[in-house]
Amino acid sequence: TPGALSPEARAGTVPPPSGHGSSPDGPARPSLDTVLDRTRTAADAARSAGPADRARWLTALADALDAARATLVPVAQRESHLPEARLTGELRRTTFQLRLFAERLVSGALDDIHIDHADPDWPMGPRPDIRRTTIPLGPVLVFAASNFPFAFSVAGGDTASALAAGCSVVVKAHPGHPELSRITATTARAALDEAGAPTDLLQLIEGEQTGVDAVRDPRIKAVGFTGSTPGGRYLFDQAAARRDPIPFYGELGSTNPVVVTPAGWAERSEEIASGFAASLTLGSGQFCTQPGVVFVPDADAFLAALPAMSAGPMLNERIDEGYARSLRDLASRDGVEVARRTPGGTGEPDVVLLRTTAQAVRSDPSLITTEVFGPASLLIGYRSSDEVEAALTAFEGTLTGTVQAGGPDDADGLRMLALLARYAGRVIWNEWPTGVTVSDAQQHGGPWPASTAPTTTSVGTAAIRRFRRPVAFQNVPGAALPPELREA
Ligand code: NAP
Repeated sequence: TPGALSPEARAGTVPPPSGHGSSPDGPARPSLDTVLDRTRTAADAARSAGPADRARWLTALADALDAARATLVPVAQRESHLPEARLTGELRRTTFQLRLFAERLVSGALDDIHIDHADPDWPMGPRPDIRRTTIPLGPVLVFAASNFPFAFSVAGGDTASALAAGCSVVVKAHPGHPELSRITATTARAALDEAGAPTDLLQLIEGEQTGVDAVRDPRIKAVGFTGSTPGGRYLFDQAAARRDPIPFYGELGSTNPVVVTPAGWAERSEEIASGFAASLTLGSGQFCTQPGVVFVPDADAFLAALPAMSAGPMLNERIDEGYARSLRDLASRDGVEVARRTPGGTGEPDVVLLRTTAQAVRSDPSLITTEVFGPASLLIGYRSSDEVEAALTAFEGTLTGTVQAGGPDDADGLRMLALLARYAGRVIWNEWPTGVTVSDAQQHGGPWPASTAPTTTSVGTAAIRRFRRPVAFQNVPGAALPPELREA
């Protein structure tokens, strides 16, 4: 209800969805109330769009973003401090993602349809004709993350899957890349309009309180969030505290444990050391899948084998400060020491390796659940697989769990992989967790605190399921069935 809005939102301090920023000469800003009314109208119109229509919208959006690359990438570079090659690759991933959904919508691969014809001999008694499909949930609110200004932002994974599902989308822009968010939104809205999508299918809002107000508003029917664990938890609680609680799909922080087995170290030490260094420093360690915790059979040997490491500037001051703070906190815990610190150049972070033991983790399990978002990792020396298993007993959830083993029959590796699968959304054998491909089999999520919805994924085509709900049609005449359930 409008009464749920903050004074800020009611006064109309939401930047224009058309992306004209805060220019005093720009068009009048719609209030959050107006944005939410518009998204509800757009959702109603989108509801009746078939897969081919939705595919056309997504393809148009991908084409427009690709065409705007020369404009978008420099702005992303300036606002995020990430290098051009990385951002160009990330934009390519983003448009690939949109096109993959489009392709799968057209092929029918994303349909979730079950048809049980009437059966008088059904063992529990005569069965009526019953057919199940899924329908869009309605307006989805998407919180963009700071560390992927394209792939997890305005036109990123959550937006792609919600649009593919037939929902309208309101994106809460991340303040780390405001101008990029506005230009992306303007580009996307123009492309969607041109492709004949419902007006205001995609809108942008800004401001922390505006985001909270939107989560609480009954016109929003689901939330996709990518960001920190505390931020995600706060907003999850807001969604759950509504009179009408809604699904909140939060993709949060993670420590992504890696276990190097004795056989793995004996056979592949050089490859493991260089692979770890690259994975740790990729994106200056600002990946949710960064290997933050590494169990090693010989910490001294592991440290000695590592190459020189460096990292580029952090995304923004807030994240830089958060990195320093969480690193200081972890380094000051009992049994933890700084094993190696490579000072960064001007404006660059230090690359830091901390060190502890499996026994210390048993005494304080939070050592391996505390995310340090940046180029740092905690090495944990262990003597036996039993010690690793004991150290993981109190572990919670993680996006990924990785084993660096010897050959395919390395018994320690097989045991560790089975153990990590209890906690992780994705387990990895002899590769590294950073780099999350977009495909049908991908799973990006995991038990709390990796996500608030461990049965779902935020990456890959299965992400569409988050934004549709099942409806069963019993004994319904053909003409009244959705097209995909009709006999023909
Ligand atoms: P963040 O600080 O939590 O911000 C994410 C969004 O949530 C922002 O729009 C922020 O708005 C909003 N927000 C956070 N706390 C809020 C609160 N209390 N009230 C209202 N709004 C709130 O996260 P970040 O700095 O973007 O990203 C870093 C974190 O994201 C890391 O922990 C990383 O592991 C995680 N991450 C996870 C994944 C994944 O897929 N699991 C992917 C990428 C990143 P304001 O800034 O306006 O407050």
